[in-house]
Amino acid sequence: MNARIQCAAPHCRRLFAPDPRVKNQRFCGAKDCQRARRRTWQQAKLAADPDYKANQRDCQKQWHQHHPGYHKKYRHNHPAYRARNTLLQGYRNARARMIATMDEFKPAPIKDPGAFYLLPLIAKMDASAQKVFLIPIGYDQSKVIAKEDSIASRDPGC
Ligand SMILES: [Zn+2]
Repeated sequence: MNARIQCAAPHCRRLFAPDPRVKNQRFCGAKDCQRARRRTWQQAKLAADPDYKANQRDCQKQWHQHHPGYHKKYRHNHPAYRARNTLLQGYRNARARMIATMDEFKPAPIKDPGAFYLLPLIAKMDASAQKVFLIPIGYDQSKVIAKEDSIASRDPGC
């Protein structure tokens, strides 16, 4: 009898007896574990093989042409999926807005040495980024706030 090995699926990790006919078996036979095995294989293939990736993209495009409105219906029927997507897209939009604002913002030339506010911009989003802008005290911040409001009021998209 074969020694039992641990399933490689992160959600499973059960000990199982591998099938002697399957070389280098790493996943047990459970349906979810086999799906995880195929997904792992496909992700590696997509990353390594540009032809496979292009072929997959063509197939998906074709499928979408034959099933118009599928994703619209799916989102309608799966509110939890939609809520998660909305949340993550909101995060991505906020991050993009923050980066865009940084690019637009050119610090005013400093004429006189004096007191300044130190404003960490991205530090909360990404601990490795330590960019800081100097804004002279007395600088008209209403212009900056007005600009942020106009960006925030835009439609976030999907
Ligand atoms: Zn398993």
